[in-house]
Amino acid sequence: MEIRRFRSVAGTFCGLYVTSGEAMWRFAGHWSARDLEAYSSGLLEEARSAALEEHLLICERCMTELTRIELHNFVHFTNNGPFYSRITLLATGKFLARHWGKCIEGGREFRTRAGAKAYLLRSFAQMFPEHVCTPRCGPTAQCPARPADLENLSRGSGRARRRLRA
Ligand SMILES: [Zn+2]
Ligand SMILES: [Zn+2]
Repeated sequence: MEIRRFRSVAGTFCGLYVTSGEAMWRFAGHWSARDLEAYSSGLLEEARSAALEEHLLICERCMTELTRIELHNFVHFTNNGPFYSRITLLATGKFLARHWGKCIEGGREFRTRAGAKAYLLRSFAQMFPEHVCTPRCGPTAQCPARPADLENLSRGSGRARRRLRA
């Protein structure tokens, strides 16, 4: 096992970096808005995403910030597996519309939330013209924050999927 102190690139938190077989991150402080934005945008490395998700389980403050910037989370269960959509409010004031599934990932920035939403609806209809929503399709939980959510999440939210992959 190796333990060393580290500081994030943004310099906003510090803590211990622990490796023991698998890489694990332990944080003494909160995650920065920049990291939360990167996470929501799918740009945070897997190991750090997993650590952030663990932190969200116990930290209301970071969860509240993530909920503030994630304006839309939705999953369709398609013939090709779950397909996720998300709108993230960026620090620039723009709206990132992003969607991803088993072998597709795409996204674009928009000046308005309505524009972002319209793009997600339009491109989903183009990609899955045959899709008819089932009762399983719907908004996803922000995070596996409550034990009651865990059953649902293990059936396939974006975050649960990433946790399994990490
Ligand atoms: Zn926190
Ligand atoms: Zn659907």
